[in-house]
Amino acid sequence: MHYVKAKGILSPKNGMNLYRGCQHGCIYCDSRSLCYNMNHDFEDIEVKENALVLLEDALRKKRKPCMIGTGSMSDPYMPLEANLRYTRRALQLIKKYGCGATLITKSNRIIEDIDLLKAINHSTKCVVQMTLTTYDDDLCRLIEPNVCTTSERFKTLKALNNAGIPTIVWLCPILPFINDTEENIRGILDYCSLAKVKAIICFGMGVTLREGNREYFYSKLDESFPGMKEQYMRRYGGAYMLESPKHRELMQLFHSICDRYGIMHDNDAIFNYLSEFEQNSSKQISWF
Ligand code: SF4
Repeated sequence: MHYVKAKGILSPKNGMNLYRGCQHGCIYCDSRSLCYNMNHDFEDIEVKENALVLLEDALRKKRKPCMIGTGSMSDPYMPLEANLRYTRRALQLIKKYGCGATLITKSNRIIEDIDLLKAINHSTKCVVQMTLTTYDDDLCRLIEPNVCTTSERFKTLKALNNAGIPTIVWLCPILPFINDTEENIRGILDYCSLAKVKAIICFGMGVTLREGNREYFYSKLDESFPGMKEQYMRRYGGAYMLESPKHRELMQLFHSICDRYGIMHDNDAIFNYLSEFEQNSSKQISWF
């Protein structure tokens, strides 16, 4: 871990990353890609030491409150958050300035901040987004080795729902020949239904690879799935989008089960919902 002084913290769409790099070790992680110009090892986490000062300054200058997002490039609840508490302190600022929050994580550590998530959701809106890739915990330990397994994430989603906090699941990536099975999609969607997840984001059944994450992904395939790298190379070459041969049938299955369970699955509508800021008095439920 190392500290840097950041120049700014909020993106034009009010997203922020308090950390750079990630400790969770997902074998397919896109944030490793060279196009992001990370000038340090991915596991040597960069901590933006002035992030909270910058955030408070940015929130104070906002003409009106809005949704603040985090977690798109590094998980806000990776192990070092237990000591540093940057995410927790950012949530305290978000609450102080009357904004809403949405966080993307795979970690059950988010439960440690449930008091703040509830408080933000009570006055405005707080939405937790959680990625699920496989309902099989053994497979989960291979492809997402340093974060809690799917069954723990399921318990977390249930606890958040019990606390009144809306949850959205990202169903991705679906790795060709690894987790692209009907059994897996059904298993994940059953978890989502039982945890009363509001919506599921899914852009397709596949994975993207580019320079930087491709090499890491292939080295991990060699460790855990002998022969798989060669199968990928034969089928996809250097392609960016690696679509599962079962993409079409699995997407049909996904949409039909979401309809049956009453889970929202229109990506555009979900992103509109995520960006929509709500005051308590005017909270809207029409999207669901
Ligand atoms: S949790 Fe997200 S950012 Fe962290 S390694 Fe996994 S995919 Fe990458």
